[in-house]
Amino acid sequence: MSPRDADVEDAQREQRCERSSHPGLAPEPGRPLDRLLAGITPQVARILDRALSGAEITAGEAEHLLRATGPDLLATAAAADHLRREAVGEVVTYVVNRNINFTNVCIKGCGFCAFSRSFREEEGYFLPDEEILRRAREAWELGATEVCIQAGLPPKMDGDLYIRLTRLIKEAIPGLHIHGFSPEEVLYGAVRSGRTIREYLGELKAAGVGSLPGTAAEILDDELRDRISPGRIRTAQWIEVITTAHELGIPTTSTMMFGHAETPAHQARHLVLLRDLQRRSGGFTEFVPLSFVHTEAPMWRKRLVPGLRPGPTGMEVLRVHATARIVLGRAIPNLQASWVKEGHRLAQLLLAAGANDLGGTLINESISTAAGAGYGQLVPPAELRRLIRDAGRIPAERSTTYGIRRVFAADENEGPGPLDRAAEDAARFGSYHALIKMDRFRYRHRGGQGAAASPRA
Ligand code: SF4
Repeated sequence: MSPRDADVEDAQREQRCERSSHPGLAPEPGRPLDRLLAGITPQVARILDRALSGAEITAGEAEHLLRATGPDLLATAAAADHLRREAVGEVVTYVVNRNINFTNVCIKGCGFCAFSRSFREEEGYFLPDEEILRRAREAWELGATEVCIQAGLPPKMDGDLYIRLTRLIKEAIPGLHIHGFSPEEVLYGAVRSGRTIREYLGELKAAGVGSLPGTAAEILDDELRDRISPGRIRTAQWIEVITTAHELGIPTTSTMMFGHAETPAHQARHLVLLRDLQRRSGGFTEFVPLSFVHTEAPMWRKRLVPGLRPGPTGMEVLRVHATARIVLGRAIPNLQASWVKEGHRLAQLLLAAGANDLGGTLINESISTAAGAGYGQLVPPAELRRLIRDAGRIPAERSTTYGIRRVFAADENEGPGPLDRAAEDAARFGSYHALIKMDRFRYRHRGGQGAAASPRA
């Protein structure tokens, strides 16, 4: 057992002792608590019983849970919380990281994306190498262990751009983990450079990419993808990029965007598909449910998709997270509640419904901010720890791939770290809305020059 494992074990033992000193909480026949539990419908009770006994639930059963309300939903959340405790204990993790969305110029027009701009638009930006490096270095100096790099797909992009950017950062800051390039970007880089997906991923790995974000998944159903984002990477291509990455030893996250045009049946099939992929390749580090942010999304503003919902309700957010834990928990033990999408309060509440991670500090959250999310671009580590402790759990900083870096004891007064202090003046990090107005990083399109995307110096 490593010293860090021992820290986790100690902290959890302390919590178990505290709980066992409050006897008399087990339900007895005829007690009000039993009458409360009797409100659960037999079908949901049967599914939860099976899940709690270690059985793998089917897509049909998952769909049933994804429609649960009232006592059924609360029981589903309680079962998810129990399975979370069994799988990963009481520790709740976060990662100190920074997003670098180096361009918003994109040839695609995904209906849910308010971040991207076409190359003809005034608000297109493209960060030059020195600015990307400056942001990475600043993050490292403030204690970040990861930069998450994702961006639009600029027209006529140099196919080697992602490989070159990775080398640039790794050569300057070898210890920084690069969590970069979605399956859509990997596919674009491969096509633009004339390589196969496998060759391209091999080059990225050699350059120093540590893991891939499993974004661009939305719902892995081509009929639905054609409705919300025609031209988006196909389901089979997404699976090919992800499984090839896993085969090459590059871990990835997994995601699902929900609360738009999909049904509980779509959500259930998506979860089961991810579980099956994980059984085959084993490379997913976590699952992150992502609520659709509708306010500025083109498909919402222009009414492009019949039956589109304005994001999920709070109950739906609870259903999706709890069901995700129940379906995926044994295959993918880490379930993230995203403060970016759900806000601090709901994300904290989700820690009682199966989640065991609060994601990253981010520093420059842009994509959800552009779509109208109002939860800011940064959460300092001390605030993440406050949310975790108030949920009765044990905060721990993790690496991108869920190695525990530091466990924070319950009564530890660790004081503000460098990023906590820097966050007092968050304006120093800039913002998406300021960036798209700045002339300094304005995108200039130069057709036919290979590396056609170029910022004005
Ligand atoms: S989601 Fe990505 S690929 Fe789609 S428009 Fe936005 S930046 Fe482009």
